[in-house]
This record gives sequence, structure tokens and C-alpha cells, in this order.
Amino acid sequence: MARKAKKAVKAKKKAAPARKASAPSIMLHPAIDRGFAKSASKNFSGGTLKCHCATDPVTVELSAQTAHNHACGCTKCWKPDGAILSIVAVVPSDKARVTANAHKLKIVDESALIQRYACTGCGVHMYGPVRKAGHPFEGLSFVHSELSDKKGWSPPGFAAFVSSVIESGVPPSKLPAIRKRLKAIGLEPYDCLNPGLMDYLATAAAKKAGTYRES
Ligand SMILES: [Zn+2]
Ligand SMILES: [Zn+2]
Repeated sequence: MARKAKKAVKAKKKAAPARKASAPSIMLHPAIDRGFAKSASKNFSGGTLKCHCATDPVTVELSAQTAHNHACGCTKCWKPDGAILSIVAVVPSDKARVTANAHKLKIVDESALIQRYACTGCGVHMYGPVRKAGHPFEGLSFVHSELSDKKGWSPPGFAAFVSSVIESGVPPSKLPAIRKRLKAIGLEPYDCLNPGLMDYLATAAAKKAGTYRES
């Protein structure tokens, strides 16, 4: 009994500093870990995204504010080194224009809905248009506004596909803490898209199927 108790005390002593050191232990993404503006700048009209190449970077000019910015846990969206989540938003595809070094871009996976153009030099995804005819997201391009040094982009508003982080190597046991942290910083976690976008997709599907009802 006494030995057991002693052991427990020892274990407790050992655990304490570790807990302290790991207080902000869940690093999700640099852009949200260090806090972020909760609202976009008024009359913000875009900026230039730049890849990570030291020489001849690819640049993409966005001539619009982003919409639906969110954290994403899927395995396909680009994220900076060490990040668990991606931060991704959309702009109308005609508002995204490659302005330098277009020859370095290549589509990561042509069979994917989002045609993610990555820089072959540094691997950063510069823009990802949806071109599938008739898809509700047709005409939109997925972009990462963190690639711009301008301030005022729309901030992330929720977290999508959170459970998918397990597919990129995050232990399932960490998911409760990740969801807790996301809630704490105001990004409601979902394991698909958020209800607004899921409803939007289902509405499009219902209209296609002829089952859509207004009331
Ligand atoms: Zn690059
Ligand atoms: Zn994603």
C-alpha cells in the first residue's frame, strides 16, 4: 500500500511540470495560434498572394475580399510546415489572376473537385478553381490569404473536416483537445463543412433532383 502511494506521489510530481509546459500544446496553424482579427477590414478589395520561393516566386493577384474563410482538416488543402489545419477561403475564379511565374504551377490532383495549383518550387498551393460544370462551387477558387502580407482579409469563421486530421497522422486521442481549442478561439468545429455550406450543397442537390421545396 505504502509503496503504491509513494509511487503515485512520484508520478504526480513528475506530471506537474509537463502539464505546465504543454499548456498551449495544441498548435493548429500559425495564423490562428497567435490570435487573429475577428473581423475583416471594411472596403477591403484584395491583395497579392506570393509563394514561398526565395527567387522567382509565383504571385496571384486577388481582386476581391475572400469569403467563407475557415480552418480545414482535410489532407488535401495546403498547410504550412507543422500546422495541423489549413486556413482556406474562396474568391470568384475571375478575381484570381496569376501575375508572375505561372510556368511553375502544376495541378496537384486533376481528378479532385478543387484544381489546386501548386508551385513546383516550394509546394505552396496558390489557387484552386472548381471547374466542374454544374457543381454548386463552380466558378469559385480556393485560396490561402495568409500568402498575402496585407491585413484585412476575412478571418476564419469555423473549422471544417476536423476529424480528417487523423488521416494526416494526428492521434485520435488528441481530437477532443483540438475541438476544445477550436471552440475556445471561436472556430466551431465540424467534421464536414459548416451547416450553412452543407445546406447550400443540399439545396443545389435537391433542385437538381426536383425535390426542392420552398416551404
Ligand atoms: Zn514557390
Ligand atoms: Zn481542406
